[in-house]
Order: sequence, then C-alpha cells, then structure tokens
Amino acid sequence: MKKDIHPEYFQAKVTCNCGNEFETGSTKENIRVEVCSKCHPFYTGRQKAVAARGRIDRFNRRYGIKEQE
Ligand SMILES: [Zn+2]
Repeated sequence: MKKDIHPEYFQAKVTCNCGNEFETGSTKENIRVEVCSKCHPFYTGRQKAVAARGRIDRFNRRYGIKEQE
C-alpha cells in the first residue's frame, strides 16, 4: 500500500500576543506571533508606518495574509 506522502495542510490557528486570533493556511497546526494586523504599530498608529512597512509586508507574506484596504 502506498502511503500518502503529501504534507498535511491545516487551517492554522494563529494566536497573537495581544490576544487576537485568526486563521490561515499552513503546514503547522498552531502558530504564535508577537504582532498581528490588529496590534502592529502600522495599523494602530500610523506614525511609524514607514519604518514598519517592510516588516509588515514580510509578515503578511510569511503567513499568507492579504492586506486590508
Ligand atoms: Zn496582535
């Protein structure tokens, strides 16, 4: 019998330090993050937007999160 060797793909539950939880597709079941789109300075206070821009872009790409308008 040939075993299915595809990696498991979860609807991963992402838990942030701020308490926010959201889901994203991942090969991991649970993900813990220090910042999310809810508490990141880029979203909570616009003053650091320029400095945070590169980081939040990478963060979003890493977790497959689409930026909201
Ligand atoms: Zn957060």
